[in-house]
Amino acid sequence: MSDRSTPRALRMAQPLARQVAEEVAKQYGVCIRPVPLKRLDTHTGQWEIIDAPCGATLDSKCSPCAKRNRQLRMAQCREGWHLDQEPVITPDEPNDEQRWLIEFRADIHAQRDAADQAGQDTADLDAVISGLDEEINAAGMRGNVLGRTVPKRNRSTRRRQDAPDLPKRKMINSTLGRTFTGSDGKIYRPSLFVTLTLPSYGKIRNGVPVNPDSYDYARAARDALHFSKLVDRFVQNLRRVAGYDVQYFAAVEPQKRLAPHLHMAIRGTLPRAEIKQIAAATYHQVWWPPTDQVVFDGERLPVWVDDAGYLDPATGEVLPAWDQALDQLDADEAGEPLHVVRFGVQVDVQGVLAGTADADQCIRYLSKYLTKSISDSLDPDDQARREHAGRMAEALRFEPCSPTCPNWLRYGVQPKNARPGMTPGQCRGKAHKPEHLGYAGRRVLVSRKWSNKTLAEHKQDRRIWVLEALGQPDEPTDPHRYVWKPVPAGDANVPPLAMRLLRSVAERQRWRVHMARLQAEADGQDLSATEQAGRAA
Ligand SMILES: [Zn+2]
Ligand SMILES: [Zn+2]
Repeated sequence: MSDRSTPRALRMAQPLARQVAEEVAKQYGVCIRPVPLKRLDTHTGQWEIIDAPCGATLDSKCSPCAKRNRQLRMAQCREGWHLDQEPVITPDEPNDEQRWLIEFRADIHAQRDAADQAGQDTADLDAVISGLDEEINAAGMRGNVLGRTVPKRNRSTRRRQDAPDLPKRKMINSTLGRTFTGSDGKIYRPSLFVTLTLPSYGKIRNGVPVNPDSYDYARAARDALHFSKLVDRFVQNLRRVAGYDVQYFAAVEPQKRLAPHLHMAIRGTLPRAEIKQIAAATYHQVWWPPTDQVVFDGERLPVWVDDAGYLDPATGEVLPAWDQALDQLDADEAGEPLHVVRFGVQVDVQGVLAGTADADQCIRYLSKYLTKSISDSLDPDDQARREHAGRMAEALRFEPCSPTCPNWLRYGVQPKNARPGMTPGQCRGKAHKPEHLGYAGRRVLVSRKWSNKTLAEHKQDRRIWVLEALGQPDEPTDPHRYVWKPVPAGDANVPPLAMRLLRSVAERQRWRVHMARLQAEADGQDLSATEQAGRAA
């Protein structure tokens, strides 16, 4: 950033200026780790460098972004938990924010592919893309933007996962739970706060296995990888038993032993014993090819041949493609799932009443860890836990994280969408990273009919947040107006961070003034409406 032509005094002053700017930015809730992006205004032909908040583009957020995100989530959780009327869900047209996010993602994706073709490292762009995918989902769009490109496989009925043996109530078309009327005529709206954990993998003391050699790291790794599927199953079973369209707001967090666990606010109530019964009966089978035999290892790895795929280096035989491997598994009468995930016996169920201190406490608890990643919870001085995390990461290294994971090559199967350059043990998937330790899913899970009014409000909030940080006025814009490109590291056109932070603060101030004026105008209108009503009466 500083070169020889910068006077020495100025060079010395820069770190200090940066610290000060950071403090000011924090006070204003402005992102302190902005991601510089190049923006082409197709109307004017001008390129500009624009800072995107890290919270909108990256998985890990800086403290102001994390704080802002947490506040949004808390508000959203509070809004939906004890709704007393069915939320009105209108499948909304993609709005500007959504369109913008999708276009932006498309641009970044094109960049990523170009970088990949050129043999460059795509890790940073991949991180931006996965951050954008989360943001796109959060903006109210379902599924992934690429859509389902291949029809879903129809697995033979033999393999269909049976609904576990649980009581079933007749379904009613409601998302609200039952209410109770007190002797004073007051209506009580009880709900649940449920905590679900994974099973034991060995005795733990202070977050560390007492005996690391016998601790079942392999099982812990697979359970973490498939945890989100298990949660999906739990919700399906919960709805069947409850007999209504149960809504939830849940957060996935690392336990001290570094296994993911789930806190879930549930609208409505069920008997505690039934929740425990559902948790005990819920399981998820992973029907993936077996990995108990290492076929290729070390120097002996499959080789890529264009138009053929990966070959056995010794025999020249083409390895089974992903779909072929699944067909083989289907055809094998004795075939077994690669893994079966279940919850542990520790299930905590707490009854909560609307509007109580208890409910508030739970909401704070639900959002408590949203600002932290798994690695953040590791004390640098806590050698034993760091070693524990290291062993967990090692267990995940060769574990296939998804059908597209390069690790499948190790077990003699071509990954789905195989392409050149795949090496087992070097998957860039989120699940393998030390800050995720197997769980690559979303940290906050909110059911579709959790709330209504908030969704629009939160979207609006997010939109303002993103636009504001991008220096775009919040007005309908031509969605094709801007083209975005990432800025290569060390680009000389990017001003020093301190300057960029202060620019964002100034922008935020302008926004506040603008919003305050709009608010004052709105209040003024209300006032005159009331006055008129008063006069008419
Ligand atoms: Zn940030
Ligand atoms: Zn992987």
